[in-house]
Amino acid sequence: MRIVVLLKPVPDTTGQERLGPDLRVDRAAVPAVINPNDEYALEAALRLMEARGGDAAITLLTMGPPAAPETMRKGLAMGAHRGLLVTDPALGGACSLSTARVLAAALGSLEFDLVLAGVDTSDGRGGVVAAAIASLCGLPYLSYAGQVELTDTAVRVRRLSPRGYDLLEAPLPAMVVVTQTVGEPRYPSLKGIMAARSKEIVTRSLADLGLAADGVGGAAATTRVLESRPPASRAATRVVRGPAPEAAEAVVAFLAERRVI
Ligand SMILES: Cc1cc2nc3c(=O)[nH]c(=O)nc-3n(C[C@H](O)[C@H](O)[C@H](O)COP(=O)(O)OP(=O)(O)OC[C@H]3O[C@@H](n4cnc5c(N)ncnc54)[C@H](O)[C@@H]3O)c2cc1C
Repeated sequence: MRIVVLLKPVPDTTGQERLGPDLRVDRAAVPAVINPNDEYALEAALRLMEARGGDAAITLLTMGPPAAPETMRKGLAMGAHRGLLVTDPALGGACSLSTARVLAAALGSLEFDLVLAGVDTSDGRGGVVAAAIASLCGLPYLSYAGQVELTDTAVRVRRLSPRGYDLLEAPLPAMVVVTQTVGEPRYPSLKGIMAARSKEIVTRSLADLGLAADGVGGAAATTRVLESRPPASRAATRVVRGPAPEAAEAVVAFLAERRVI
């Protein structure tokens, strides 16, 4: 079974993510980590491999800056077998559609049965790249999977729904987007960290994938950020404390003063 996990390096979510003067995420400002939702996708892949007695090969697929292998190695330390990185100076500022086109082309260079992805990223937060890849590759798409089961020819997912839960099935190859209910991502063991050092990460440029930079790069972005600023600071917030009757009176007086009531 050949499983591909989409893994995006994102600014460390404990740090203050910021945009550079070019209004793109300033990736040098904060160390990169694995996109939290993609850690769950990798955990789901590792559990599927274990459920098959180890009979699965897991490849991490990333579009990112040249420094991305440092983050991908954390995924290899968790237990993935190898990595494929697509990196190209032309990709800076790429939009979701371009990101999907590049990752779809990279998938076309791989043999796979199942692709796993996170719901969205902590920096772009678009939540569309996985669906766009599935549509570009003509793959069945199963979203919001809380549980994933595999046979040799099909994937079955359980998804929370207003009715309780739905059970869906699709033939392989397929794309599955998992939620954080698939199980807590494991911490890499020391053995895993050591082994990750020698695991292969193959790097591809746009030309290697037969893609024209002016077709998928930042220059071809379908969207651009015009402005990004913090919310306007509001007038000081007044907190009413104390026994309920007095507090209620204070609130009523506050509202009456402002002719709200
Ligand atoms: C402030 C800001 C706003 C933006 N708004 C828009 C916008 O409205 N429209 C738009 O088209 N672009 C927008 N962009 C650009 C967009 O963030 C990037 O194109 C980004 O790569 C798109 O994906 P995402 O992070 O939203 O991914 P999502 O669609 O949230 O990702 C879903 C899943 O796809 C996989 N995935 C996504 N990116 C990668 C990757 N690089 N490598 C491997 N797997 C990946 C992951 O598994 C991820 O969990 C914005 C960028 C910024 C900084």
